[in-house]
Amino acid sequence: MKKIVMKFGGTALATGENIRRVANLVADSTKQGYSVIVVVSALNHTTDELCEAAEQANKRNEAYILKFKQKMLEKHSAAAMKAIENRRVLEETGQIIEKTLDEIEKVLIGISYVGELTPKSRDYVVSFGERLSAPLVWGTLRDLKLESQWFTGKEAGIVTDANFGEASPLMNVTIHHLKEKIGPLLEKKVIPVVTGYIAATQDGVVTTLGRGGSDYTATLLAAALAVDEVWIWTDVDGLMTADPKIIPSAKMLPELSYQEAAEMAIFGAKAMHPRALEPIMREKIPARIRNVFNPKNPGTLIASTQTARRRDVVKAIALIKDAAMVNVSGAGMVGAPGSYAKIFDVLGKNNVNVMMISTAVSEANISLIIKRNLLGRALSTLEIALLGRGLVSEVTAEDDVCVIAVMGANMKGTLGVASRIFSAVARTGINVRMIAQGSSELNVSFVVKEKDGEAAVRAIHEEFKLDKM
Ligand code: ASP
Ligand code: MG
Repeated sequence: MKKIVMKFGGTALATGENIRRVANLVADSTKQGYSVIVVVSALNHTTDELCEAAEQANKRNEAYILKFKQKMLEKHSAAAMKAIENRRVLEETGQIIEKTLDEIEKVLIGISYVGELTPKSRDYVVSFGERLSAPLVWGTLRDLKLESQWFTGKEAGIVTDANFGEASPLMNVTIHHLKEKIGPLLEKKVIPVVTGYIAATQDGVVTTLGRGGSDYTATLLAAALAVDEVWIWTDVDGLMTADPKIIPSAKMLPELSYQEAAEMAIFGAKAMHPRALEPIMREKIPARIRNVFNPKNPGTLIASTQTARRRDVVKAIALIKDAAMVNVSGAGMVGAPGSYAKIFDVLGKNNVNVMMISTAVSEANISLIIKRNLLGRALSTLEIALLGRGLVSEVTAEDDVCVIAVMGANMKGTLGVASRIFSAVARTGINVRMIAQGSSELNVSFVVKEKDGEAAVRAIHEEFKLDKM
């Protein structure tokens, strides 16, 4: 019998109708003989709303807390009423929701009394999104006469370090727990529903696996239970060769290797978090991105290179807007060990993430790409720390650039790909401001003025005939 982990994202669970649809998908799969483990995200936007509530509590806004609780109650009760028909099951689910909301209220009021929001208490607050969605899915499955049991990530046995907000699972103990607690249910034909995203430290303090972390929960379960596939159910058919808003003829990608998927995720495609790929990459368990609104579509398969073999050199193109370029120059940097380190140290200490770097052997200047909203901070901190000390003579910036990333595992070792990319861009009359290629050779990234970004994507999409894949 095939075992599948099915993870449902927030948009797949946005309304009561959607939850019913999701439960029916699970029911159909069990009828076809699959053994299903369900992982859920919070309902659409709930995690963001919980973050905001935590901030408001920190500002001692008690009125907000009461209104927030009411809003959450309405949202989740309305979903329950649409999704669940059986009166008794509906009541039982409703009680769990109310009890959970009473607890959120207490936590938020507690934060507002102390007037202190820590990463630890924030994780506790945001964990409630999944703690509300899981009972809804559990109730709906039971409404469809399926046997089910729901667990928080903590109850399921996911143990992490205490890096709140972005905790890392302690792999061996987590895998062991999941096997022990969730494994036996499958033999008894009980469908486990596990909250994504949330876990706990060894001492039982609630942690989260980072935003988008439900995928990680899904792949941890997949590895522990040695399932056949992980299906990531969302609201799109799969990953595309480019953003269809820019390229209407963009195609769905039928297959990607794990490395390509990780690369795409970094560039903001609706893929999985790169960290989430690790457990299944190790065990060679394939994942599929699938659309709850179009379940006939097989989606995009993410698998090992042997399985996801396709000859195309370039597979996908991403455009990252809202970027800014910082240029640091000075003859003093030439041949001075540690000069680049100083630049990165300053940026790192001020929480400015560097997305891309380029420098030449002349060593007299270095260009960095960062998020545009961080430009002010980056410039002021660099100027304060570096100017007038003989190393750096000038720090300049361009705040109207974007990054284009061209991806594909078969670019590795294929001659002439870069030349085709840049010839296509040049033919369109677009000036390239900066180039970087990682030694993985999985992607070539370059920077152009933001106004030229879409035209550059179009030129490359056409050059490699991605709409004919
Ligand atoms: N609910 C969490 C978030 O919005 C986790 C997830 O959806 O994967 O980030
Ligand atoms: Mg989400």
